[in-house]
Amino acid sequence: MDFALNETQLMFQQAAADFAKSEVESVAIKLENSKEFPWELTQKMAALGFMGLVIPEQYGGAGADYLSYLLVEGEMAKTSISLSMTLGAQNSLVALPIMNFANDEQKQRFLPALASGEKLGCFALTEPNAGSDPAGMATTAVKKGDKWVLNGTKLYITNGSVAKTAIVWASTGKKPDGKNIISAFLVDRDESPFKTGTVEDKMGVHASPTTELIFEDCAVPAGNLLGREGDGFKVALMTLNTGRLSVATQSIGLASGAYERAKKFARERKQFGRALTEFQGISFKLADMITAINAAKMLTYKAVWLKEQKGLSDPEFISAAAQAKLFASEMASKVTSDAVQIHGGYGYMKDYRVEEFFRAARLMEIVEGTSEIQRLTISSWELKS
Ligand SMILES: Cc1cc2nc3c(=O)[nH]c(=O)nc-3n(C[C@H](O)[C@H](O)[C@H](O)COP(=O)(O)OP(=O)(O)OC[C@H]3O[C@@H](n4cnc5c(N)ncnc54)[C@H](O)[C@@H]3O)c2cc1C
Repeated sequence: MDFALNETQLMFQQAAADFAKSEVESVAIKLENSKEFPWELTQKMAALGFMGLVIPEQYGGAGADYLSYLLVEGEMAKTSISLSMTLGAQNSLVALPIMNFANDEQKQRFLPALASGEKLGCFALTEPNAGSDPAGMATTAVKKGDKWVLNGTKLYITNGSVAKTAIVWASTGKKPDGKNIISAFLVDRDESPFKTGTVEDKMGVHASPTTELIFEDCAVPAGNLLGREGDGFKVALMTLNTGRLSVATQSIGLASGAYERAKKFARERKQFGRALTEFQGISFKLADMITAINAAKMLTYKAVWLKEQKGLSDPEFISAAAQAKLFASEMASKVTSDAVQIHGGYGYMKDYRVEEFFRAARLMEIVEGTSEIQRLTISSWELKS
C-alpha cells in the first residue's frame, strides 16, 4: 500500500497552497462579504491551469490526473470554499461529463474555452420540484428541425449567472410507463441565450453565485446533444458519482482549514494562566478533529483508487464514493463546529473565519446528493450481497 503522492501531484498541491496564501488569504473575508463573483481571482486560477485541470493537454487543459485535481480543490477550500466551488463546477461537473460523453467535434468545440477559463461552466439539473429525484423534472426539449427547443426553469445552479457553457437536462419524451426520457444538452449561452432568474441569498459560500436559470424557447443545435437521446440520466448519475469525491475533498479542505485555525488559536490563547492547548478538554478535541479529517481522507483516497481500478460504473466504486462524501461532509460540519467552540466568543466573530467555514460545511451535506441519498446509495449496494 502506497500513500505517497507523486511529484506532479505534490507540485499541483503546492501551487494551490501558494496561490491561496499569496493571492486569496488576505482578501478572503472581503470576498465572502461582498457577495460578488471573483472574476480576477478566477482568471488567475485559469492562468495557473486550475480551470482545466482534468482536461487533456490536446484541448488546452493541464492534463492532470484526477487526484491532482482533488488536491488543488482541497487546498483552495482551506482558504476559499467559493473559489473551490468554481473549480468543482468547471472541472468535475462540466469538463468531466464532456470528456466522458461528448463526441470529438463537441470536445473540440467546448473544452478549450473551459480549459483557458474564457468560459465558465455550470451543471443545470435541479428544478423547483425535482431535487433528490431529478427524474421528475419538468424542463422539456422538443426537436424542431435541426434544433432542440428547451423550456423550463432550473434551480440552485452554481455559477448560473456567470457561466457561458451549461450542461442542461430536459425531458425529451415519455416512456410507456409515463416516466421521463431524459437527455443532456451542451448549451452555449452566446449561441442559445437563456436567462438568469433569482440569484439566491444563501447561508454561506457567498462568492459562488447560486441562481435560477430560465429557458424560454431556447433553441440548441441538434449537434449539442450530449451522448445519445435518453442517455441524460446516465450522464447525470455518472457525473454525480465522481462529483461526490469532489465534495468530499472540499469538506476535508474546509475541516482542515478550520482545524489549523483552531490549533493556532488554542496555542496562542491563554486562560487561567495557560495556553488552551494545555487543557485536555481542548487538546483532545483537536486530536479528535485531526483523526476525523484523516479518516475522511482515507475513504476519499480509497474511492479514487477504486475509480481508477474499476471504473465509473463499478458498484463498489459508487458505494465507496458515496461513503466518502457522506462521512467527509458530516465530519466537516462537526469539525468546523468544534473549531468555533475552541475559539469561544471569537469563533462567533467573522474576523476569525471559523464561523464562515461552519456555515459552508453545512452545504456539503446537501449538494450533489444529500446525506440521505448517500445512505440510500450505500445501503442498496450493501444489502445486495
Ligand atoms: C448552494 C447550492 C448549490 C447547488 N448547486 C447546484 C448545481 O450547480 N447544479 C444543480 O443541478 N443543483 C445544485 N444544487 C441543488 C442540490 O443538488 C439539491 O439542493 C439537492 O440535490 C437536494 O435537492 P432538494 O433541495 O430539492 O431537496 P429534496 O430532494 O426536496 O430533499 C429534502 C429532504 O428530503 C430528503 N429526501 C429526499 N428524498 C429522500 C429519500 N428517498 N429518502 C430519504 N430522504 C429523502 C433529502 O435528503 C432532504 O433532507 C445546489 C444546491 C445548493 C444549496
